[in-house]
Amino acid sequence: MKFDIMTLFPELVDFVLGESIIGRAQKSGAITVATHNIRDYSEDKHRRVDDTPYGGGKGMLMMAPPIYNCYSHILQTNTHMGESAKRRVVYMSPQGKVLTHQKAAELSEYDNLIILCGHYEGVDYRVIEEIVDEEISIGDYVLTGGEIPACILVDAVARLVDGVLSDKECFEKESISGGLLEYPQYTRPFEYHGRCVPEVLISGHHENIEKWRAEKSLELTKKKRPDLL
Ligand code: SAM
Repeated sequence: MKFDIMTLFPELVDFVLGESIIGRAQKSGAITVATHNIRDYSEDKHRRVDDTPYGGGKGMLMMAPPIYNCYSHILQTNTHMGESAKRRVVYMSPQGKVLTHQKAAELSEYDNLIILCGHYEGVDYRVIEEIVDEEISIGDYVLTGGEIPACILVDAVARLVDGVLSDKECFEKESISGGLLEYPQYTRPFEYHGRCVPEVLISGHHENIEKWRAEKSLELTKKKRPDLL
């Protein structure tokens, strides 16, 4: 799966997605992440990408032409993926539907996800209407830019792509994806600050361990996220 990210701050995105599991998934070829600096597609000799909003108001708005030029360049460089490649263009926006596991799973079925990160007061509405398939928010609050939301989206989607995690089980039984919250987990040492690991987990009795985990999963969900039940 290929992620193309249109941003004014590619270094920020490259840094975040270049580390740990997502960084390794890029090295192994399980996913490809390409960042594109919208400023490189400015039609202005000073490489301007923003201007004041028509009708007045505070702040600056990202202009449509550099974004459209950047988008066209991405489509051209991705022609090798073929006409049948499944592509989705997403604008990270507080106006979008809030990201869920279901949405991440749905997006993981695409071959190419093109993500637009806004900044300042946002983006000229005409380019959203022209190129964007859907807007996605990471929560009901407003951030200064779409870069952190884009990294969150890529992380949530990429870990569902084959070859990114070592085992499907890593996410199938996890909180939310499995429908409930995950059971409590423990590692060495057996005793920590006077608290011991539940005996059942060292019993070696797999059936009892599974039963205990299912019970705890339900218990924690009831306590912390009853809305999931
Ligand atoms: N003026 C815009 C509005 O009221 O809808 C908000 C612009 S916000 C300050 C700048 C950029 O940050 C947005 O264009 C978007 O890309 C990103 N952003 C801010 N909050 C977000 C959120 N909750 N989810 C996803 N992206 C967000």
